[in-house]
Amino acid sequence: MSVDKDHLSSVETISEELEPLYRSVVLVGPPGVGKGTQGKLLASIPGIYHLSSGDMFRELDDESDFGQLFHEYATRGDLVPDDITVKIWLQYVKNKVEQGAYDPESDLLILDGIPRNIAQAELLLPYVKILKILFMVCEDREVMFERIRGRALKEKRRDDADELVVRYRWDLYKRDTEPMIDHFTQEMVRIIDADMIPAGVLHQILSTLVPIQRGCFSPPHL
Ligand code: ADP
Repeated sequence: MSVDKDHLSSVETISEELEPLYRSVVLVGPPGVGKGTQGKLLASIPGIYHLSSGDMFRELDDESDFGQLFHEYATRGDLVPDDITVKIWLQYVKNKVEQGAYDPESDLLILDGIPRNIAQAELLLPYVKILKILFMVCEDREVMFERIRGRALKEKRRDDADELVVRYRWDLYKRDTEPMIDHFTQEMVRIIDADMIPAGVLHQILSTLVPIQRGCFSPPHL
């Protein structure tokens, strides 16, 4: 994906004058907790649009400036700088709307991997109306490291292959992402026990999502 910087500034100008357009639920959880698995399941439900920031970055053209920047940060396990992340994200969402993949009028947006810290949450404020935070929790971090080792082999992700990078990403999550949860009121946050079979995790997530979808959107056409 190539990003037109002039276009981005006009997107920002327009959006800032309007109410936040994208009604969203945010999935938060450490690397390996199963956000990707749940995201794929949720993505198959009519009226839900799942957006993973990790997938968004991995779709960037390797040869583009942003693609190279992403690889540089991701290989180290670092986050891409916040302002660049949000700009790429805005352009990406806009493209999805233009392509008809995501309709903000009828689809609930599931944000997976973004916002990832307080600064990103604030940068997204003009665009995103957060309806709920789904906080996926798994106490045993070795379970998550084991899952990531499996994913490294299956998906050939460079950032999953190096054990030190994986542990660093986990530390970064604890330092920057978890504190973001406290930024929201308690009623906004639903804790999801991620230490069970995928269907059990999905069951908890849906028990929160269904009333939100029903309350905010007319029923999707099947
Ligand atoms: P994980 O949650 O397992 O770390 P992701 O697929 O969500 O994996 O992210 C992979 C990499 O993409 C991150 O290590 C980071 O470099 C980049 N990335 C993803 N989301 C963001 C974000 N919101 N802000 C900055 N960088 C991000």
